[in-house]
Amino acid sequence: MNQPLLETHAKEANLTDIKSAQVRTLFSAIPASLATILINSVILSTILWQEISHTNIVAWFLATNSLSLFRWYLYRQFTKINEGEEFDAIWYQLAIVTSALSGATWGAAGIWLFAEHSIAHQVFLLFVIGGMGAGAIVTLSVILRAAQSFVLLAVTPVLIQIMLVNNQISTAMAIMIILFTARILYSSKKLYDTFIESLVNAHERDVAEERIRSQALYDELTKLPNRRLFLASLDQELARAARHKRVGALFFIDLDRFKAINDSLGRSIGDELLVQVADRICSRIRQEDTAARFDGDKFVVLLPEIGKNIKISGEQAHKIANEIQKSFDSPFKIQQHEIQLTISIGVVIFPLEQEGSANLVKYADTAMFEAKREGRDSVRLYSEEMQDATERRRIIERGLKKALELSEFELYFQPQFDGAHQITGIEALLRWHHPDKGLLTPEFFIETAEQSGLIVPIGDWVIRSACEHLAKLDFDSNLELSVNISPRQFRNLEFISNITQILLETGVNPARLKLEITESMVIDNIDQSVGVIDHLKRLGVKISIDNFGTGYSSLISLARFSVDEIKIDPSLVQGITNSPENAIIVETIMLTTNHLKIDTIAEGVETSADLDFLKKLNCNKFQGFYLAKPDSFEVFLSLII
Ligand code: C2E
Ligand code: MG
Repeated sequence: MNQPLLETHAKEANLTDIKSAQVRTLFSAIPASLATILINSVILSTILWQEISHTNIVAWFLATNSLSLFRWYLYRQFTKINEGEEFDAIWYQLAIVTSALSGATWGAAGIWLFAEHSIAHQVFLLFVIGGMGAGAIVTLSVILRAAQSFVLLAVTPVLIQIMLVNNQISTAMAIMIILFTARILYSSKKLYDTFIESLVNAHERDVAEERIRSQALYDELTKLPNRRLFLASLDQELARAARHKRVGALFFIDLDRFKAINDSLGRSIGDELLVQVADRICSRIRQEDTAARFDGDKFVVLLPEIGKNIKISGEQAHKIANEIQKSFDSPFKIQQHEIQLTISIGVVIFPLEQEGSANLVKYADTAMFEAKREGRDSVRLYSEEMQDATERRRIIERGLKKALELSEFELYFQPQFDGAHQITGIEALLRWHHPDKGLLTPEFFIETAEQSGLIVPIGDWVIRSACEHLAKLDFDSNLELSVNISPRQFRNLEFISNITQILLETGVNPARLKLEITESMVIDNIDQSVGVIDHLKRLGVKISIDNFGTGYSSLISLARFSVDEIKIDPSLVQGITNSPENAIIVETIMLTTNHLKIDTIAEGVETSADLDFLKKLNCNKFQGFYLAKPDSFEVFLSLII
């Protein structure tokens, strides 16, 4: 196999690795070769001692064995190179040059030790040189050029000598030498091909095995350890920490809203972002700490030692996590995009009572979840209470799934009134008939429903059920029905089509359906909200902004969305008579909404004093316990019929 062919054959394999293996094989045969050279040179010198000038013999013997000494020295140097050390190409060149020089010494024997008058000695010389050549190709063929130069330099001089003798037998001998040389060169090439092929195969096998090993333990995208490797090393680290009485920490890092970035900018940008995130996390930790990609957009960091004292270590870990979090302040640049990303980090300190790698990760994950619940972009340290809360949430989640299947939900209705105490609308409020705990209000379950995503099917049920009730109220065609929409529902891509479908199926007039959304839902993602609200308005449904006054949005910005109604938050309404600040805020809201021709309703009216005061501020719609509490549809019907 020639060099270019070798290169194509070994395109997968690393050429340097192959060359290094060639040299290693060639050098490993050096002790035996040098011993053979010594024995052969002694025998040859002894046999020819009577026939050839002693100067020639001694000079040749010294030259040959000095070279052997030099080759021995090289061999010793080469064996000192450690496995895994970078291979220096000079060894490859040295292997060729020293093999050629060794061939040349046997070539020199063909000139200096050629007994012109004794055919027997000539044949003996030929026999030795031929034998050396045949023997050499076995070991030198791993590097074709080394074998070829050895054979040609060893044989050519003696061939010329024989031809110069020029008698009948010498011509025949010369032809035999040529045939013999061609034969061993051919064999050498064959040996070389076989050797390289097996080397390349072995190398490819090594590469494949390495890749499989690395795929099993490392994340292909970020090159960080994967979940499996991380958990394995975490177990060892926990044992070590316990032995040395050290305190360590585990961070569970989750990217906030990564899915939205992935969906909007595409997977390849998402992938690149994950790589940069991994780099950024790694740049903030010490060498002895380990970062790993745990799953999708979740990373973990293990800090094997942050101190000896659990309490101080907690603060220290919190500080380090804060630094990682702060490092996300500057945006990521990918292609033409500047991506602003935040992270939520859960921190757990070990040793803990109930340890084990799986538990520890679970605790850090729980703390991370709490960080997310508190509005993302934050760090939370794990506490046992958190675990209890998580357990409770899990139980609620399971219960909610069942509640949907077993129809345990019911809608309650709370009327809304005008200044003349006439009912103008109703708000549908969800209730859960829990099999053990009785009737539950949303405060017990709505957050879990939202976080688990169950709010989407539950919300669909609410809209459908509300519309079915609305259809039964067709005797009072002015009555409007409000339904609360959760952030997750609002962002759900199928939200519009679901409402359209429900309106069609129940046949209600869309203008009598009012959807209550919150300011933050609109402001958090203005572009998407504009699209959704536009669509809803085109369907003919009305939009109300619930709990207004608790966010930071201005009425002017909300006016852009052509909302139909503002519901003033109970926190501004309750005790308004004793709060001049709240009174001024409500008055300002009333002035602006009147000017913008947006309906306003004061929520949470609990006393007649509040009601009277609100009326003085020009408020003309009210909802609250003072006027009517939420109740079943039947109770509501009894109020209006
Ligand atoms: P919200 O939309 O602000 O609903 C009004 C809540 O205030 C209701 O509580 C109601 O009972 C209560 N309320 C009304 N008047 C007064 C009053 O004078 N004083 C006091 N202290 N409270 C009053 P509820 O039914 O427990 O609902 C709580 C929240 O749960 C609702 O707040 C709404 O955000 C959410 N929710 C209710 N039903 C649904 C639903 O079907 N879907 C979604 N996504 N959320 C819902
Ligand atoms: Mg509401």
